[in-house]
Amino acid sequence: MEILRRDKLSNHTTIRLGGIAKEIYFPRNTDELQKVLLSLANNKFIIIGNGSNVAFRDGGYDGIVISLKKFNRDLIFFENKKIIVGAGVSCSKFAKSLHKNEIAGFEFLHGIPGTIGGAMAMNAGAFKVSIWDKIIKYKLISSDGKIKSFSRKQMSTLYRKVNINRKSYFIEAEFFIDSKVKFKKNLILEYAIKRKSTQPVNQWSSGCIFKNPNSKYSASYLIEKSGLKSTRVGGIYVSKKHSNYFINDGNGTCHDLEKLISFVRNRIKKEHNINLDCEIHIFGSRS
Ligand SMILES: Cc1cc2nc3c(=O)[nH]c(=O)nc-3n(C[C@H](O)[C@H](O)[C@H](O)COP(=O)(O)OP(=O)(O)OC[C@H]3O[C@@H](n4cnc5c(N)ncnc54)[C@H](O)[C@@H]3O)c2cc1C
Repeated sequence: MEILRRDKLSNHTTIRLGGIAKEIYFPRNTDELQKVLLSLANNKFIIIGNGSNVAFRDGGYDGIVISLKKFNRDLIFFENKKIIVGAGVSCSKFAKSLHKNEIAGFEFLHGIPGTIGGAMAMNAGAFKVSIWDKIIKYKLISSDGKIKSFSRKQMSTLYRKVNINRKSYFIEAEFFIDSKVKFKKNLILEYAIKRKSTQPVNQWSSGCIFKNPNSKYSASYLIEKSGLKSTRVGGIYVSKKHSNYFINDGNGTCHDLEKLISFVRNRIKKEHNINLDCEIHIFGSRS
């Protein structure tokens, strides 16, 4: 198993923020993951996927980081009406593979730069579909290495929120194929064009910083309405293209990011009396 020691966490998040991690483990299969978890016993650790919805603070992380981006990352198995997928499979690879086989309904995952496990933890979604709309079963591993299967109804989910026990982690999902959804040859391309024209997909970000507060107003609408496009703290600024994306220009720190988040949040509260909740997860120590 690959282990990185004293590596920069900025290398492992899409917004490229974070100080040093003592150790980062990349288990490739259940056996390796169980061994890592058991060896950690009571040590502090965190599990991440591709780091596309997380930032680490500039002081780094004083526990062990386990990245699942290599975990069963080739496991995509079709059988009759169901699909079994490993937590480390990238969302885009999964969507492309189904599309190639003319299986419809998973195109929305293309362009979400995370793993299936990370998408399950976030209830990620796009174009009015969320990942938990499609799941029928899932497997969890607990911090003592035990694996259990569950049915969809055993997990309660909301918009970008999943009520997972904090000591359990997603390792596999089973999806159903809805034969009523018609296959459209150009749908992935259409979605990619839409994304590219509305989101700064090639810049360093973690996607949307805030959850949408309600169905009437999106967070980006409120930020734009408050004239906060391009607002900057140090090396982090509000994207001109999509104001719920905060961009790292290469010189940003997590301190800048947190200052910008609180500045924007305070302005939205003052001007619209709306509390914005963060979608991004921030971990680690300040110094
Ligand atoms: C350019 C861009 C576009 C994006 N577009 C979208 C979009 O359209 N829709 C959307 O919903 N999101 C979007 N995102 C955000 C992000 O890609 C998703 O939230 C994604 O699902 C996160 O997956 P990840 O593997 O990167 O998870 P990470 O960011 O590594 O982790 C996210 C959280 O999940 C936890 N976690 C990760 N893996 C597991 C696991 N296996 N078991 C339990 N907990 C776990 C982590 O501890 C962390 O708290 C975008 C991000 C970027 C940078």
